[in-house]
Amino acid sequence: MSVPVDTVLLKVASRCNIACSYCYVYQLGDQGWQRQPSAMSQSTIDAIVGRLGELRRTQDRDFAIVLHGGEPLLLGEALLARLLNGLRTSLPPECTLSVQTNGTLLTTPLLNLLEETETTVSVSIDGPKEINDSRRVRFDQSGTFEATLAGIRCLQRHPAAERLFSGTLTVVEPSTDPGEVYSFLRGLGVPGMSFLLPDGNHSRLPPGKAGFDSHEAGEWLAGLFDVYMSDPDPVPIRVLDDLVKLLLGGSASKEGMGPDLNSILIIDTDGTVTKNDTLKSTFDGGDRFDEPWSVHSHALQDIVRTGAFRDYVEMQHPTNQQCLRCPELSVCGGGMPLYRWSDDRGFDNPSVYCTDHLFLISHVRRYLNAHLPA
Ligand code: SF4
Repeated sequence: MSVPVDTVLLKVASRCNIACSYCYVYQLGDQGWQRQPSAMSQSTIDAIVGRLGELRRTQDRDFAIVLHGGEPLLLGEALLARLLNGLRTSLPPECTLSVQTNGTLLTTPLLNLLEETETTVSVSIDGPKEINDSRRVRFDQSGTFEATLAGIRCLQRHPAAERLFSGTLTVVEPSTDPGEVYSFLRGLGVPGMSFLLPDGNHSRLPPGKAGFDSHEAGEWLAGLFDVYMSDPDPVPIRVLDDLVKLLLGGSASKEGMGPDLNSILIIDTDGTVTKNDTLKSTFDGGDRFDEPWSVHSHALQDIVRTGAFRDYVEMQHPTNQQCLRCPELSVCGGGMPLYRWSDDRGFDNPSVYCTDHLFLISHVRRYLNAHLPA
């Protein structure tokens, strides 16, 4: 039985105009972007619009569509308009559209297009200038902070800013002060914050992690949780809200935590259907299915019904005995599959962030036990 698709990620541009030091697209195991066209063609866009309309008619739930890259705004205004207007025509309004951008290419005409097509914007920024520019750099190593900030200000000045701006996405840098990052983003007036752990695995440790037993990122997120809880008017932080919900018996809203399966369909720049692109950080081709599925030749509902697609979705459930025996499995979920990889054992490992997860979960549980009525 197939799991209905809940998220569609469109890699509308395979290149980026900046070169963050931690980016899985260019800096880790995979060279697949070199085999892709730099941006989606008109014919691929038209095929996607048609195929996603068909998919929605064959399943009983809506899905979220995220434009991703590289940098998705490199697609250019004309092709973006074709894609977004096409999707708005072929899909019901309940299917949300969003763009994950580095913000440096945001302009008022582009924002007008995003407003017209009810597309929201999340901007990647890692904190104040010194923190952001230590990793989010251009190809000449110059920082991107000012250009990103200019994009955020352009977004916030737009008459439809409240509907357009969904929040920021920040990659955790464990050597920084979480309070400083939170205060900075809060001071920017962002409506929500998302945080991601740096990519890495057992064979190539994430930046900032000393070893499997260390918990730098867990401590950082626990510090962020404390700052968040002490703010009388907090800005929502999805990863921490999800953790609290799971500890109180609810469900997470996104992949990477808890026991629920997410069905995420990825369409690459040439129209190829792939696994979650974060798997590119494991080995060259780690995000590829054996079958050469493409929107140019295959119906998405047929792909989703195959055993290979089901196996890919099931990968979210960990297989390693340490996870299967873990008392925190129902909260942690084993973390995202990319973090479980090692060159010798494949995905049959606990998350490389296991100790971080345990540290953060016990920190938040202690807080809830102390603050909620018994
Ligand atoms: S990654 Fe670690 S904390 Fe998470 S379920 Fe596996 S053993 Fe438990």
